[in-house]
Amino acid sequence: MDKTPDISTLGVRAGQVRSQFNEHAEALYLTSSFLFDNAAQAAARFAGGEEGMVYSRYTNPTVSMFQERLAALESAESCVATASGMAAILATAMVHLKSGDHVLCSNAVFGATIQLFSSILTRFGVETTFVSPTRTQEWQRALRPRTKLFFLETPSNPLTEISDIAALGRVAKSAGALLAVDNVFCTPALQRPLELGADLVIHSATKYLDGQGRVLGGAVLGAKTLVGDPMTAFLRTAGPALSPFNAWVLLKGLETLQLRMVAQSAAALELARWLERHRAVARVHYPGLASHPQHELAKRQQRAAGSVLSFEVKGGRAAAWRVIDSTRMISITANLGDVKSTIIHPASTTHGRISAEARAAAGVTEGLVRIAVGLEAVADLQADLERGLT
Ligand SMILES: *Cc1c(COP(=O)(O)O)cnc(C)c1O
Repeated sequence: MDKTPDISTLGVRAGQVRSQFNEHAEALYLTSSFLFDNAAQAAARFAGGEEGMVYSRYTNPTVSMFQERLAALESAESCVATASGMAAILATAMVHLKSGDHVLCSNAVFGATIQLFSSILTRFGVETTFVSPTRTQEWQRALRPRTKLFFLETPSNPLTEISDIAALGRVAKSAGALLAVDNVFCTPALQRPLELGADLVIHSATKYLDGQGRVLGGAVLGAKTLVGDPMTAFLRTAGPALSPFNAWVLLKGLETLQLRMVAQSAAALELARWLERHRAVARVHYPGLASHPQHELAKRQQRAAGSVLSFEVKGGRAAAWRVIDSTRMISITANLGDVKSTIIHPASTTHGRISAEARAAAGVTEGLVRIAVGLEAVADLQADLERGLT
């Protein structure tokens, strides 16, 4: 092909392999194992001397199609799919860290990611220091001789802080550490971290890659030496493989990814501008607003600002809860990445287990409300929010 196809084309076309029946849509291979022609072929497949399917914990044609399509979207040499986003992060840690190693992690990552690094991995001798997602010098200062991994999410949740991927990639490289970026909020439709200098991209496919709130899934992407070879070996043995059914749902999700991310970002921007003008709202956090502290960086790094925004209602927790409880359409749930808009009060839910001081330091105030904007008309979202704001 003379020209790399556009991302919308890749989402629809990349990675499909057709069977002898020439089916038009991607086939779902719902099978745990595969037949061999004879004992010699079985032996050759097990020894790795012959390519081919053996068992769905190792490889499955539907899972392979999903991996190929997502790799094309992220411009990655290789992709391994996992059972969930957390399984992808765990696999990354198990493959690239060992006892005695040190991790630098943004303090504004997904709650379960903080738990994984701060409690589970410490039992295996891996220590983690949590640093600011936006102050690159903090990462430089916190380096240790055994720092092996940088981990971040950008934009962050729920305050949509933007990390400078290229700058942190340079710090990681000079320290001999890998930079892993959790690209859940942007997806490759809006941001491609490998092109900006990241070594690894992590996905919870559960969110925007599915896009319709149906299945769990995850993925890690990067160079073959960092992902394809060592991670495939780990997943085969350790077991958190993606189910073929979930891979098939996710393949169909990728077909509309570009369309959804562009439309949901446009709706979020419109809603953010409306909220910013609202008398009952003290502050709006959204990278697409000129008032956002890293607005310029977001414009350089992302194609659009994404679908997640948060805003501070005047009047603290009571006022925030009134906005949430007055909605009749927007779903009250902690999930995001759906075409159905969702709303949540971070201070008493997703960020409820950290101390009040840590929460305040992180900017997760009692009046803060987070919305992940879906595909409903913006006017209907406004009407649903207006009831509790006045
Ligand atoms: C949901 C989420 C995860 C975890 O993914 P699961 O598929 O739920 O395991 C990781 N990172 C981010 C940013 C998420 O939103």
